[in-house]
Amino acid sequence: MADTTTIITAATVITVDARDRRVEAVAVDTATGRITAVGTLAECQAAAPGATVEDLGTHVLLPGFVDAHNHPFMSGMTTQAPAIWIAPYVGFPTWADVTARFDAEQASAPAGQGLVFSGLDRMLQGAPVPTAAVLDAHFPDRPVVVVDNSGHIVYFNSKVIELNGWDTNPPADPVGGSYGRTADGKIDGTAHEVPAMMAAAGRILMEVFTHPLHQAAEWLALMSRNGVTMTSDHTYDPSYLKAYDALTSLPDAPVRIGLYQMSTTTDAGAKVTTTNPDMLWKQGVKLWADGSPWVGTAAISFPYVDSETVRTAEIEIGPLGEKNMNYTRAELDATLDQYAPLGWQMAFHCNGDVGLDVVLDCYAAGLERHGLMGTDHRWRVEHCGAARGDQFERAHSIGVTISLAPFQFIYWGDLLDGELFAPEIGSQWQRFADAWKADVGVSFHNDGSVSPPIPLLNLQAAVTRTTASGKVHGANQALTIDQAIRAHTINGARQLGRDHDLGSIEVGKLADFVVLSHDPTAVDPHEIVKKVKVEGTWIAGKRIDLRRFTAAVEKADPTDHQHLAHLNRHPCC
Ligand SMILES: [Zn+2]
Ligand SMILES: [Zn+2]
Repeated sequence: MADTTTIITAATVITVDARDRRVEAVAVDTATGRITAVGTLAECQAAAPGATVEDLGTHVLLPGFVDAHNHPFMSGMTTQAPAIWIAPYVGFPTWADVTARFDAEQASAPAGQGLVFSGLDRMLQGAPVPTAAVLDAHFPDRPVVVVDNSGHIVYFNSKVIELNGWDTNPPADPVGGSYGRTADGKIDGTAHEVPAMMAAAGRILMEVFTHPLHQAAEWLALMSRNGVTMTSDHTYDPSYLKAYDALTSLPDAPVRIGLYQMSTTTDAGAKVTTTNPDMLWKQGVKLWADGSPWVGTAAISFPYVDSETVRTAEIEIGPLGEKNMNYTRAELDATLDQYAPLGWQMAFHCNGDVGLDVVLDCYAAGLERHGLMGTDHRWRVEHCGAARGDQFERAHSIGVTISLAPFQFIYWGDLLDGELFAPEIGSQWQRFADAWKADVGVSFHNDGSVSPPIPLLNLQAAVTRTTASGKVHGANQALTIDQAIRAHTINGARQLGRDHDLGSIEVGKLADFVVLSHDPTAVDPHEIVKKVKVEGTWIAGKRIDLRRFTAAVEKADPTDHQHLAHLNRHPCC
């Protein structure tokens, strides 16, 4: 019988095992996808004498990166073609850059064809409210929809108003949503929250997004090109199951996905069966505590500063504290009581410090009530922008894990420190070092379309505390590069319940790797993104061919998944 083992050698193999060993070779049984030896080439050859050797030369091998909190399907829909991604950090830092792209699309797209833009961030881009009057100046004759990066608002032009019949017959506000209106009561081209957003934009989305499964595949490919091999969906509802099952069953499927079902869906405690549970599984239940610091809805104990940025964003100075909680404590307790007994891991969206106090109270009481205190429950809290060191210590004391959002620091850090909040608070936003010190199993995430999935940028920012503009804020919150790598590998795997077989390069684990051009622990930390390139990824001992993956999805029948061309989800952050 032929030996199915391949030995991979590299300039360095960063194992991320308990001792953070560096080795030169890894043996992988390609039949099982598992690692059979780790060490010197001679040691691996002794373990597998008939093995073929693949030499990666000067490249460096790491466990595949884990983005612990994402929204792959919805992110594909809103950022990948035919959607047009106009977020500040993908090449559109100002409103002038956005309108230049508007005009280029207007000039080149076939007459009458609808266009969907997404990722507008008025605060970062200094954009006016793009009402129909503003959009009509760029798009006089075709339907155009612009989705706000917050996920809470869509903007649309007069052609959309006309196609909806709203020019002659303006609708009343739907339950749970609202439209902006002009002085004379007409729809002004803005819709707030999902029911209104969908009523306004649904028809254009269905027309433009003819193959949402392919858009989702392109998002997974983007994650993979940035070195990610495992992620999660934190706004899962069962209508996505068929699509995710298709995406993770194809040969060369590049990313494993753990599902967190929204507590707001019916039967959020139900089990989920998938074709390939190693690639797609249900991991937990998702809850919401508060909102977002960019729109003034995080539950925080401190006020905003009275600045131009805060006034333009129409944020109340506050502090609003618990008024910004989305649910009462009793409602949150009832949700835990519904799903904790079923054994699901809990995950709470929370940005504010007041919010985190409530979440930790709620978790501590829930863990006691359900006899889970002291067990390996790994209940988690997402984002934690304003969380303090003592809160991380409390989280650790009850076994709660934390997933941090370096992108909040990277893209908003300059505003946070002085423009939004007093420097002693703003400079400390996303306290990486305090979380590490408290031993809360901290992981990192990019949160789907909220920011592009670039783990290497997160490593650079965590180590240097440098924002996208190159400024340093809160240098005391920096991590070491080895700590940051653990946050993006083994700690993410642990939160997703997969550390027994993923997250590090160790004998017996599945061979998910990222291949890098240079050793990120050996270059100047300020130059990680510039110097270190992702050369490819492996899943279960197989090099991933992204072109084969996306081509296969493109050929899949789109009609099965076309109904998913909507924005019908709880906005995350
Ligand atoms: Zn969130
Ligand atoms: Zn999210």
